[in-house]
Amino acid sequence: MVFATVLIGYLCSMRIRGLTDSMDSRLKKGLALPVMEQFHSLQGEGYHTGKAANFIRIGGCDVGCHWCDVKESWDASIHPLVEVEEVVRNAASQASRTVVITGGEPLLYNLSVLTDRLHREGSAIHLETSGAHPLSGTFDWICLSPKKNAPPAPEFYEMADELKIIVHKRHDFEWAEQHAAHVKAGCKRYLQPEWSNRDTVMPMVIGHAMQHPEWNISLQSHKYMNIP
Ligand code: SF4
Repeated sequence: MVFATVLIGYLCSMRIRGLTDSMDSRLKKGLALPVMEQFHSLQGEGYHTGKAANFIRIGGCDVGCHWCDVKESWDASIHPLVEVEEVVRNAASQASRTVVITGGEPLLYNLSVLTDRLHREGSAIHLETSGAHPLSGTFDWICLSPKKNAPPAPEFYEMADELKIIVHKRHDFEWAEQHAAHVKAGCKRYLQPEWSNRDTVMPMVIGHAMQHPEWNISLQSHKYMNIP
């Protein structure tokens, strides 16, 4: 397990509509975050598929993938600003000590306080990110899922434990190889059929994985299991 610790001074220059100065200040300090949902389920994708985990889905994304299956996450202003202490309490009340921080794009925000507090509660913290914004916080597992609208910053290649490429059309295999050329040795590589186009791309993904055994296939198994 890789323990990545890159902390930047913070980053989030955007201001969420409707926040008071005091709320905006708590957001920028990472003391409160726009939480779209928090739930206990199984990780459906990638290396940790099947593992019980507490999911924290943070609202806000500026990447704009046209096939995105959580478009309701994009507008941070429609999600309540929740105190990090409350988020941590919710996570700690569940049986699993694995936390998955996802979005939206969670690295729009300062995640340092959240990850410090979760680690103090004994949680292993996994991050799902496009890598389009600088890292904040400390993670035990980083899943990098590059997106064409906003490719990842180069430092994410060294930090990624897992590279997950969403395959929407044939050209995405080239895109996958471009990123795979930069990740560190031992980084797990996954091709994941884009859900809305899965019937079309599944045969291509299977064929590519069979011809390129360094790639594994990730399915959105939570959707097949009908769980969140
Ligand atoms: S980065 Fe993720 S949340 Fe943002 S638009 Fe793309 S798929 Fe959706």
